[in-house]
Amino acid sequence: MRERHHFDGQLLVTQLREWAHGLGFSQIGVAGVDLGVAETGLRDWLAEGFHGSMHYMQRHGAKRARPAELVPGTLSVITARMDYLPRATDPGWQAAEWQRLRSPQLATVSMYARGRDYHKVLRNRLQALADRLAQEVGPLGARVFTDSAPVLEVELAARSGIGWRGKHTLALQRDAGSMFFLGEIFVDLDLPATPPVSEHCGSCSACIDICPTRAIVAPYKLDARRCISYLTIEHDGPIPEALRPLLGNRIYGCDDCQLVCPWNKYAKVSTLPDFDARAPLDSATLLQLWAWDEAEFLRRAEGSAIRRIGHARWQRNLAVALGNALRAAPDAAIEQALRARLADAGELLAEHIHWALDQINT
Ligand code: SF4
Ligand code: SF4
Repeated sequence: MRERHHFDGQLLVTQLREWAHGLGFSQIGVAGVDLGVAETGLRDWLAEGFHGSMHYMQRHGAKRARPAELVPGTLSVITARMDYLPRATDPGWQAAEWQRLRSPQLATVSMYARGRDYHKVLRNRLQALADRLAQEVGPLGARVFTDSAPVLEVELAARSGIGWRGKHTLALQRDAGSMFFLGEIFVDLDLPATPPVSEHCGSCSACIDICPTRAIVAPYKLDARRCISYLTIEHDGPIPEALRPLLGNRIYGCDDCQLVCPWNKYAKVSTLPDFDARAPLDSATLLQLWAWDEAEFLRRAEGSAIRRIGHARWQRNLAVALGNALRAAPDAAIEQALRARLADAGELLAEHIHWALDQINT
């Protein structure tokens, strides 16, 4: 059996940083495996039912806060972040996004989802980093995660200095804002932890005030059942009627609490072409996307995170946004397109189409 080489922990973290940069990561950190305090917060959040129908969050229970139970043998967690703004992003990108949100006939897809599916990009690159590490130290137990339900990503990121937890509950960094993905490598190596950074939300509450659905019920506390990201991506059933008008033209995710955050003027563009926005996701009208049948949806969304929600949820979201456009101004083309889909719509979609058509009179 091959033996593990002797290694200097500090030096190894420095090397990891260099390899990570070469792979497109902007920063890495190291967290220990004791997340004791976070466990209490997680329990309270679940007890209040804020996870909605994301039952998998409950299923993993305390394991989420105990990396060594989730992956036995884990001694450290290497944390990583990767900036995702498309390379062609203009300096005034926030203004352009607000303008899109004020244009009821346009579709708004969350910025992180306009390019290649980040799960694949990050997983492959985290695995490459783990492989490089194994070359250096010899036999290594390593498991990579990104956006994975059993892992308390933001907590691990905050503990290891990748950012602080903003009042909108996302990780935030002074020189990078929050427009980045997180990933982790659980390793059976005892590495020196990197220190947390101080918090800089101060007295700001812009994210709480701007949230269209008041989903941030208190600083650092998100009621996922009200969050547009959850409703348009994770949630399977009907969108609660009271919240539909508040979705506006957001058909996949929501960026408002990040758009308004003052730290995002320092958000960085990605070094990778993977996150370049794919046409027409950065400029489409609702009607253009409504015209996609299932085959076209699957073809166009190939390799994109959007494909994960499936055509049924995609259409449900579009029907709500089209209803909101009709409420803003009568539009014969939208009305006709909605009616044309009624004949072959399933129960869920038909109900949303009827709601959308009713918006003409409100
Ligand atoms: S993503 Fe949108 S809906 Fe969710 S908390 Fe942020 S602003 Fe509110
Ligand atoms: S908008 Fe303000 S309160 Fe919210 S995360 Fe940014 S700095 Fe913190």
